[in-house]
Amino acid sequence: MTKAAFICSPSLWQRGHGASHPLKPERLQRTYELLAAYGAFDGRESILVQPRQATPEELGLFHTEEYIEVVRSLSQGEGRFNPRRYNFGPGDNPVFPGMYETEALKVGATLVAAELVTSDQADVAFSFSGGLHHAGPAFASGFCVFNDAAIAIHWLLQRGLRVAYVDIDAHHGDGVQNAFYETDRVLTISLHETGLYLFPGTGFVEEMGRGRGRGYAVNLPFAPYTDDETYLWAFEEIVPPLVRRFQPDIVVSQLGVDTHYRDPLTHLCLTTSGYVAAVTAIKELAPRWLALGGGGYDIDVVARSWTLAYGVMSDQEFPNALPSAYAEKYGQGSLRDHEEPRIPPELRKRARRYAEAGVAALKQALGI
Ligand SMILES: [Zn+2]
Repeated sequence: MTKAAFICSPSLWQRGHGASHPLKPERLQRTYELLAAYGAFDGRESILVQPRQATPEELGLFHTEEYIEVVRSLSQGEGRFNPRRYNFGPGDNPVFPGMYETEALKVGATLVAAELVTSDQADVAFSFSGGLHHAGPAFASGFCVFNDAAIAIHWLLQRGLRVAYVDIDAHHGDGVQNAFYETDRVLTISLHETGLYLFPGTGFVEEMGRGRGRGYAVNLPFAPYTDDETYLWAFEEIVPPLVRRFQPDIVVSQLGVDTHYRDPLTHLCLTTSGYVAAVTAIKELAPRWLALGGGGYDIDVVARSWTLAYGVMSDQEFPNALPSAYAEKYGQGSLRDHEEPRIPPELRKRARRYAEAGVAALKQALGI
């Protein structure tokens, strides 16, 4: 019986947003190489599965027909559309050759993962190139061209499943929240750095869904310098009671690792220990589990954290010493963090108070 599937192909990292862009394809390559060096796919209970490119019909589960055509056209270098109308251009969302194929492959990887998990071929599947949670129906946003999470959730809804989405990326999962803001068939929970300081500037406690969806969109924002202890305390107060009450058939999780204290784009201060604890808590809540990647901009941290996450998924405990083949190529180190972030005590306390206020407000509003 296969427990865990890892959806992977070198085609996922052959093209990217450009040399100066933070979303480096090497993040994916390094993660795969580290897992392979640990022998993570050698046992019978853990398999490597090739992705396929999502079809235009599948992309159309969330995106508009026009936008899909725009991405295809821009990707081929045609001049028919003004990229700025769809939020493409220099900066966060550059157009690059082969963009359509690369980004549709990431969506296809997530759909392959969804197929494996819903057909009971795997308890969990990790589409580590996915989790592109910012893209909108007709615009790119925050490095995300196609929103594989929203597409996969629509695909799961079509099959009559109740879906809980848990997003632990440092940025608010705005694209997924907005996609299901008015329905009670999807519970979205996003834990992230407060929009006061970080893109996309949303994800406050007050955003709770609309109409039938009221109470089914949940946001738990954190202040800069939030540490493992505060983060995990707040997670336990909010996420398990809500997911258990909702009784999902499947949990879709976005496992961005830009919450790490060494991440260059954000200000949260988690370690690999806090990250692994959050991933483990999600595993315990998930009857079936579709796991997606997400942000994370320190390549060494990304490779180590997603290796640890896949270890949780596939019940493998990897030794702390990095395998010699990997260490020779990328440098010595240990799999788990061996240092703690240095946080001034008053900032640590301020982050704790901010989390306590958010948790209290959510518990009152949601009756948990
Ligand atoms: Zn992020």
